[in-house]
Amino acid sequence: IIIANWKMNFLRDQADQYVAKLIKKLKNDRQIEVAIASQDLFLPDLIRIADETPVSIVAQNAHWENFGPFTGETSPKALANIGVDYVMLGHFERRELFNETNSTVNLKVRTALNNGMNVIVDVEELEQVAPVLEGVLEEQMQRIMIGFEPTFAIGTGMSASTKGAEDVAAQIRKTIKKLYGINVADATRILYGGSVNRDNLKDLINQVDIDGVLVGKAALDFQTFWELVQIV
Ligand code: 13P
Repeated sequence: IIIANWKMNFLRDQADQYVAKLIKKLKNDRQIEVAIASQDLFLPDLIRIADETPVSIVAQNAHWENFGPFTGETSPKALANIGVDYVMLGHFERRELFNETNSTVNLKVRTALNNGMNVIVDVEELEQVAPVLEGVLEEQMQRIMIGFEPTFAIGTGMSASTKGAEDVAAQIRKTIKKLYGINVADATRILYGGSVNRDNLKDLINQVDIDGVLVGKAALDFQTFWELVQIV
């Protein structure tokens, strides 16, 4: 899987056109899952455009309650209701700029799962894996992907070394094995994110424990992202 994390970028037309172009180009393509993580405003459009196509649509955040007096927040139940394919939780920028912690990320993960959603839960280090998964049931793990995004690599142009990324991904898989057993550990997709580009993508994706990538800056230009999709 390759996920474009658009973060807080683009206007509506740009978002729509990007996804429409992607779908057109992906036709008859190989077996690869391509996903777009967009700000909430564009999600209904994108879901409509990507309906019954190989492109998945991802929300970048959700609250841990379904409803209530939480001005400015987005309900996970509402996201599930409009048909988003995944919700991303615990991204470094959420933790760093909006004071999210392992415990709030964990609450969000559990509520999203209870709404039947698929979750991409992000961690910057191995130590965050067990806390964000606390209380997640074994049968819910098939709806979880772990995104490993080391702080120093996000938006800096300085990716983790291939070996460094693989080492942590392998450790994450070991941690999942300890918590849920070998079958769940083998089946869980572990993604790497942080300055992925056309020079490092091939090596990263060839690692045994790296099952996909999250792309930030390099996904802001459609042509560059399309080149990356072809490398995966
Ligand atoms: P960059 O690719 O810009 O480092 O961003 C990575 C990221 O945050 C993906 O979620």
